[in-house]
Amino acid sequence: MKTPKKDIISQVSKVDRPKLGKSVPIEIFRVFRHYTQIYAKDLLGDRAKNILFINAGKELGKSIGLRLLDKDLGMYIDKVKKFVEQEKIGILKVVEVSNEKLVFQLDECITCAGMDYIGERICFFEVGIVAGIVEAFLNKKVLAQETKCNANGENVCEVTVYLK
Ligand SMILES: [Zn+2]
Repeated sequence: MKTPKKDIISQVSKVDRPKLGKSVPIEIFRVFRHYTQIYAKDLLGDRAKNILFINAGKELGKSIGLRLLDKDLGMYIDKVKKFVEQEKIGILKVVEVSNEKLVFQLDECITCAGMDYIGERICFFEVGIVAGIVEAFLNKKVLAQETKCNANGENVCEVTVYLK
């Protein structure tokens, strides 16, 4: 049976590590995150890997979004920003809002801030999270893309969400 996606956060949030506690060094998060993505690329190819990571991120983004949901867009964005910073995912900024698109930047991105330039944008999972958070509010599907990435030498992680 398929795991109900909404339950994943609560399932894995129960932690029994009396000695080691709940925090891990960011390098450990990153090697898990990057090894998984690089292996998925080797195994599935670029396109399937991107879809896999974006869609997985979207499911997580929708779960996060539904937990933080507010009828007022400004309030919702404030709650999301607070959550993202409190959980040390990054420092979220909304840099452009129009009827066509929303542009978000993530300073100090958990996945790519400060890492070597490797000549590609890599934050597909994070793109999905942002798209899912937007979808939870709009209750419709959106397209999203990473438009800047620290790993591509662009000094910030930026996600553009296309609304039409
Ligand atoms: Zn990035």
